[in-house]
Amino acid sequence: MDYDFNVCKLCSRPSGRVAYLLGDCSIYVCAECGFHYTDHLDSAETVGRPVDSSILTRDVVEYIENGLHANAGRFDVHVSELSSVLQLEGARVLDVGCGGGKFLSLLASTGANSRGVELSDVRVAYARSRLGVSVDNYPVEHEFWQLHHEEEFDAVTLWDVIEHVNFPVETVRAISRLLRPGGFLLMDTPCRESLFHQLGVVEYRATWGRQHVLLSSLYSGADFAHKQILSHGDIRRVIEAAGLILLSIRNVAELSFPFESYLRRAVSNDAVVRMLTPLVQLARPVIKIRNKMIVGARKPRLLERPGLDS
Ligand SMILES: [Zn+2]
Repeated sequence: MDYDFNVCKLCSRPSGRVAYLLGDCSIYVCAECGFHYTDHLDSAETVGRPVDSSILTRDVVEYIENGLHANAGRFDVHVSELSSVLQLEGARVLDVGCGGGKFLSLLASTGANSRGVELSDVRVAYARSRLGVSVDNYPVEHEFWQLHHEEEFDAVTLWDVIEHVNFPVETVRAISRLLRPGGFLLMDTPCRESLFHQLGVVEYRATWGRQHVLLSSLYSGADFAHKQILSHGDIRRVIEAAGLILLSIRNVAELSFPFESYLRRAVSNDAVVRMLTPLVQLARPVIKIRNKMIVGARKPRLLERPGLDS
């Protein structure tokens, strides 16, 4: 996909400059608004293709169940976040980037009328065949949603998704059109103000860019990986550019995968990982690293304009 990365993906000004060179991508930083984004975009996929559950190999199922779905508490947190703004029974909820469908299946048990968007074939196959949830493999920007599901949903959720999309503002704008007036957007994403990100910058600068283990665990040039890590200010600008009202941003400590998989990425030696894991597990309650943020936003109600809402 052709894109001039000197043009900031958030504010559209020609102020993006390469600030960090990682192994498989560069991180641009906007001199005007501070947005951090990689020079990688996913190419447009063939969407809406048929998915057959025969693609579910044992390795795929193992990855989904022991990786993606391993931190069960995280999905309970997401359900309770949603129930704090919305009566779940009968609510129409769209989960964008629903992965293997764990959150959707929990939602279904509350009586919500939920469906998901997922572009990975194997995850779609797992969610449909193993958890029996309704998932479509069209991106939210696609006319499948934009033409046929306008203002349909009481809530849209984006758990660990906004950092992966090519253009966050466009994605949230597309979601905004699917929300009914007064409907909610909830999301979580890594936070650029986190200690983890700051340490990544320190590591990079202290070694003149030769070491970048931490930044490389936050950004990647691989397809469907993290393309941007947002600050509180970035999130506010994305939400407002999409015509939504920001309700709250709260920093939380949360891991998307079991801790060992992060350690394994940083340290390639298995024996060292086994030795370090119990030590780091012990230290975790003491060093509360609030690495992520949970964000709530709402579409203006009819007769309500953003900006008049104090
Ligand atoms: Zn900018």
